[in-house]
Amino acid sequence: MDKTAFPPQGLYYDGAVQRATSGKTFQTVDPATASALASVDIASSSDIDHAVVSAQRAFSSWSKTPIPARARILLKAVEILRLRNDEIARIETLDTGKAFSETSTVDVITGADVLEYYAGLISGGGLNGETTQLREDAWVYTKKAPLGVCAGIGAWNYPIQIALWKSAPCLAAGNTMVYKPSEFTPLHGLVLAQIYTEAGLPPGVFNVVHGAGDVGAHLTTHPGIAKVSFTGQVATGKKVAGSAAGSMKYVTMELGGKSPLIVLPDADLESAVDGAMLANFFSTGQVCTNGTRVFVPATLKSDFESLLLSKMKYIRAGPTMDANTNYGPLSSATHYEKVVNYIRHGIEQDRATLLYGGPDPPASLDSSVRNGYWVAPTVFTDCTDNMKIVQEEIFGPVMSILTYDTVDEAVRRANDTPLGLAAGVFTRDINLAHRIIDRLDAGITWINSWGESPAEMPVGGWKMSGLGVENGRRGIEAWVRNKSTLVDMGGKIATVFTKL
Ligand code: NAD
Repeated sequence: MDKTAFPPQGLYYDGAVQRATSGKTFQTVDPATASALASVDIASSSDIDHAVVSAQRAFSSWSKTPIPARARILLKAVEILRLRNDEIARIETLDTGKAFSETSTVDVITGADVLEYYAGLISGGGLNGETTQLREDAWVYTKKAPLGVCAGIGAWNYPIQIALWKSAPCLAAGNTMVYKPSEFTPLHGLVLAQIYTEAGLPPGVFNVVHGAGDVGAHLTTHPGIAKVSFTGQVATGKKVAGSAAGSMKYVTMELGGKSPLIVLPDADLESAVDGAMLANFFSTGQVCTNGTRVFVPATLKSDFESLLLSKMKYIRAGPTMDANTNYGPLSSATHYEKVVNYIRHGIEQDRATLLYGGPDPPASLDSSVRNGYWVAPTVFTDCTDNMKIVQEEIFGPVMSILTYDTVDEAVRRANDTPLGLAAGVFTRDINLAHRIIDRLDAGITWINSWGESPAEMPVGGWKMSGLGVENGRRGIEAWVRNKSTLVDMGGKIATVFTKL
């Protein structure tokens, strides 16, 4: 192994690293160079059971720990995350292939922000119930009670951010968690578990199991798990929700998208092009909310494309730790195959016009990273709604430009998809922007902006893109259950069963 390699990665429960009993491991790989980073233990069924038991034991005291004490521990973890930002960002860069210029300014920070937000929310009364006076001597009070042991199942594109977006409200609400990272990007799992322990989180409150879909599936059917919070593909989400339904577990589903970005005729073209580039090439297009269907007025097509082409050179592929690199490889060999096949399909079957890029690595790529899973940022134009590249989530750096004649037509076509994660418009007419946003079937929308997702903003998909939201005040509701109590002090039961 080279100097960047990590020690073997175990599981984490009872507040310590544990070796798996399966005797099986998998390798995690740096996608920029295709070199192995670490061997990771695969949890056996009995390892998963141990992690769940550890979380169950911890639940009884963690759920009763006073809110200020819980918040203090979470805030301590925030402090450690921020102090170790660059070290964790480097791990994420190696594991995901995302440029360090991104992971050091986005991934850890936006995860820590959410942890800080929920520590603040619970301290400020965010778990309070309601009191309703019914009569002079009777009232109803409600309580937000934690659910129990919750499972978090993560995708590979924002590993530590996803782990924090799930564990922050989960733990703040008094639950405990068994978390399974994606098998493609597992390295953050132990880092986060150890940070929580260092911050003072009692053993068993946050646990990590590693493995692929079968380990996730075991969690979704486990009788000791009360809720599953899942981030991943729609097809997997259907399976997870289906199997969680067997024991009526609560679910949150953060799934895929094929989001429309509508440039209106009066838009500032420069911002629209910058927005479209961010919405397609940030994180090498591996962002769930990507605006991959770019609707441009037919009259602006040529200006939009010329400006876009003049800016494509600012996408700089290269060694991922290099400060000037802002574009990495695809995250794994499997995903590389999938994205390249879509690009080939776009050229050969859909017969869209290839405006930029294609299935090969970026031409200027440094020879030190040539072995990785690189594909050039790619733009197709003259696209039509029925093309496969326009209909299916590619989850890679592939923009499709579609032209339209009327705004009503653009809105109708934008909504003509089973997915409904994100949508956005670029225009100088703010009244029109609100009217169009109101008609777009998506849970996350932007006006003259794209991609920002702060802790305060509840985010979640409509239609097949998901169930429930993460973040913001509403996000805590997914981690509590309601208890309503009616109190009557009248001293008499208003019974109908009295003597006539
Ligand atoms: P995936 O569905 O392949 O895997 C996600 C997780 O599910 C992994 O940890 C995997 O091991 C696990 N898994 C697989 N089969 C399982 C099963 N039967 N039961 C339980 N768990 C199982 O998704 P991916 O390729 O890792 O992630 C990419 C997808 O995630 C894209 O579709 C993207 O849009 C989506 N995503 C959505 C959001 C959001 O907030 N909406 C955020 C990030 C990514």
